Amino acid sequence: MKKICISILLTIFCFLNGNAQELIDLPIAPRVDTTDAEVQAVFKLWQKHLSNHPDQIYDNPYWSEQQKEKWHDYDISRRWTYGYELANGMNLHDAFGLKPRVLSIEKRDSVYAIKTLYAPSNLKNSQEIYSIQRVFAGRENGEWKLFSVLPILTEKWKRKQVGDIQYIYPPNHKFDKNEAQDSANFVKELANKFEITLSEPINYYLAQNFVEMAKISGLNYAWDGNDGRGYPKNNQVFVGTGSESYPHELVHTIFKDYELDPFVDEGLATYYGDIGQKSFDQLVQSIAQKITSNKSLTLSKVLTGQRISSKIYYVSGAVLIKAAEEKGGPEAVKKFLKKASSEEGIHQAMNQVLGVSKDEANSFWRQKVQEYGT
Ligand SMILES: [Zn+2]
Repeated sequence: MKKICISILLTIFCFLNGNAQELIDLPIAPRVDTTDAEVQAVFKLWQKHLSNHPDQIYDNPYWSEQQKEKWHDYDISRRWTYGYELANGMNLHDAFGLKPRVLSIEKRDSVYAIKTLYAPSNLKNSQEIYSIQRVFAGRENGEWKLFSVLPILTEKWKRKQVGDIQYIYPPNHKFDKNEAQDSANFVKELANKFEITLSEPINYYLAQNFVEMAKISGLNYAWDGNDGRGYPKNNQVFVGTGSESYPHELVHTIFKDYELDPFVDEGLATYYGDIGQKSFDQLVQSIAQKITSNKSLTLSKVLTGQRISSKIYYVSGAVLIKAAEEKGGPEAVKKFLKKASSEEGIHQAMNQVLGVSKDEANSFWRQKVQEYGT
């Protein structure tokens, strides 16, 4: 009997202890009113979320069921907060020792807004504050759940559908119909060319600038100045240039059903959709000399993406897409894409579509960069 009691006690102790160990240490700023029961409940929910792979997409029990059902990538702020890899292959959080710290949990109509700072734990010696993330917490079927801020912050934004694009833009934005029509035509032509049917319009969030784009995504401060972001599996495009046109991100969304290695995915978007204001031709011209003069830069090094500038990475992928299109039009590109889901797949695609063996891949890539760039 005594033995059983001890083992039960031990089990309870291990359970409690185990749970305590699972939760990350999450400092709270003095502004957070921890004497309030609801604030406490929201804090606990957020702490559990941050302790359980907040960087990954999974059936997250802390997140709103409704948002999980609606969007594959339900936490729109996730990629801003965790999505970067450094050139050395490390993630930003580990490399800079970023730690979350809750700045505020405050009521906003029927929800609580949770603001979290990501910065090195020793702020005194820190080089960089990385981001301030904001998510909402509210009750869903009686339980506290987390919500992306996007639907609430864009609730009063205007909506206009042009072709296959559903524009969502702030009321003070002067909507450019011609630009939107050109953009819709671009989507239609590219989808037709590759026989892709868009089952629903692409949701295009048109922010006036990077700061506004970050804010609706759940970032009140962000280190990175990226002004276009696609969430293809959510059927969403976020643009922070105030423009109805952002072909690069639209291309990612049009081809969302292909499983692509990131090198090919970026190459495809760059070849058909450029990068910002720079066309593929301008981009390839700007890197051709650099690649030609740097013999130690090989295709296999570029493919890893490590210590490679994003321009060289994106444009190198685009060069292979152009080569495939020259070889046999959209059919050849489709065949290439179907194979190119991994590095090995890219070599198979080069072999089968371009007739280039793995041994010849580097010289083929160099020759094409030279040809297209000069
Ligand atoms: Zn891209």
